[in-house]
Amino acid sequence: MGSHAVVLGGSMGGLLAARALVGHYERVTVLDRDSLPAGAEHRRGVPQGKHFHTVLLAGAEVLGRMFPGLVEEFVAEGVPRSNFTREATFVLNGHRMVRTDTGAQAIQLTRPMLEGTIRARVASYPGVKVVDGQEVVGPVFDGERVTGVRTSTGVLDADLVVDALGRGGRSRRWLAEWGFPVPAEDTIEIDTMYASRLVRPKAPYRDKLVLVGPVPGRPNGFAFAAQEGDRWMLTVVGMAGDHPPTDEDAFLAFLRRSAPPDVFDAIATAEPLTPLRTHRFPASLRRRYEGLTRFPKGLLAFGDAVCSFNPIYGQGMTVAALEAEALRRCLRDGGERDLARRFFRAAAKIVDPVWQLNAGGDLALPEIPGHRPLATRVVNRYVARLQRVAEHDPVVATAFVRTIGLLDRPSAMFAPRVLVRVLLGGR
Ligand SMILES: Cc1cc2nc3c(=O)[nH]c(=O)nc-3n(C[C@H](O)[C@H](O)[C@H](O)COP(=O)(O)OP(=O)(O)OC[C@H]3O[C@@H](n4cnc5c(N)ncnc54)[C@H](O)[C@@H]3O)c2cc1C
Repeated sequence: MGSHAVVLGGSMGGLLAARALVGHYERVTVLDRDSLPAGAEHRRGVPQGKHFHTVLLAGAEVLGRMFPGLVEEFVAEGVPRSNFTREATFVLNGHRMVRTDTGAQAIQLTRPMLEGTIRARVASYPGVKVVDGQEVVGPVFDGERVTGVRTSTGVLDADLVVDALGRGGRSRRWLAEWGFPVPAEDTIEIDTMYASRLVRPKAPYRDKLVLVGPVPGRPNGFAFAAQEGDRWMLTVVGMAGDHPPTDEDAFLAFLRRSAPPDVFDAIATAEPLTPLRTHRFPASLRRRYEGLTRFPKGLLAFGDAVCSFNPIYGQGMTVAALEAEALRRCLRDGGERDLARRFFRAAAKIVDPVWQLNAGGDLALPEIPGHRPLATRVVNRYVARLQRVAEHDPVVATAFVRTIGLLDRPSAMFAPRVLVRVLLGGR
């Protein structure tokens, strides 16, 4: 057991990393510069928290394993649980997916409630401290390894420091300052804007979730999702510079471009509970730490600091949860020996297929700039056909839902029984 691990950043990435460290370090300290609310409230350091945040199917499973009873606790507190796709409308690439029982259950809650509950759970473990109001200046590096962290209020000694500072994560800069190689960065310029508000429909709405994705020629869509507290999150998203306006009339006109008429009516007549808030997201960003030949001992990067995905696919927190399980396995199997190399390799195995899935989805839109190799074009044609068949074929719909929920690898979309149905059904 190491004596002290310090996690920089107390958002979902940092909290899940801290959970993984429990049992491997006598003390785990999570530092954040924000003043952290006691409950489910917004805070400055997580501006994305005002927008739709889905926990993917795999994420709900991992969270349930890491925090026994968590999902049941949420449901007891009024968090809607939806049966995919029986109680959800999915319109992907212009195709409305068949309603079927895929066996998948999603939980739908606001980001502040999710983060606030997990923060309380993590802080309740013996030896864990979540300390707010701490501006991280940087790790202390002694020429060989990281030995602690400097904050606005002093220096903390640490055997392990985890950079979970989000996509602005500083490890890249620190590595350069200390004379280490820096990771290559991949980006996909998606120029995306979110506009969101909480609403309450006038009459009970028949579904619990509506998701309408972009299509070529209309790179925008929206999510309309029941949340805790008898509220619904409405998030409208536009990619490739096709941004939703915030003027009320123009906003509704923008939404009308993608919303099926019945859904549009439910939204347009709903009571607004909060003002419209926007969030700009210029590019997805992947840092290839696994490719580095030298990396300082005592440091890791985690969560969005490693990969900040296109948010429309809702994967960041689920990937952070999967990384947390990987970190736990690395510590169990080899302790701190060669930890960074082992962890970054394990994280890459999680991140790579997700990044590929997203790149495929983004580049299926002609509005998104980027090179489209033959493999991407072939796969995208196949996926477009699969989405068409999923309008009526429950087996294909289930395979797709499980893949985008990260329960199965993308190769599951090409399993023989799915492939045959896609090829024959797509005629
Ligand atoms: C618009 C939008 C929608 C999204 N929707 C989804 C979704 O539906 N599903 C999903 O899974 N993911 C979604 N994501 C991604 C998700 O929010 C992140 O993956 C998740 O928050 C994990 O990120 P993180 O903890 O690594 O970093 P962040 O959430 O960015 O947290 C970084 C933390 O570091 C702190 N910090 C920063 N600098 C300092 C400093 N110098 N000193 C101390 N503390 C500091 C901040 O206060 C913050 O708490 C979305 C993202 C965006 C932008």
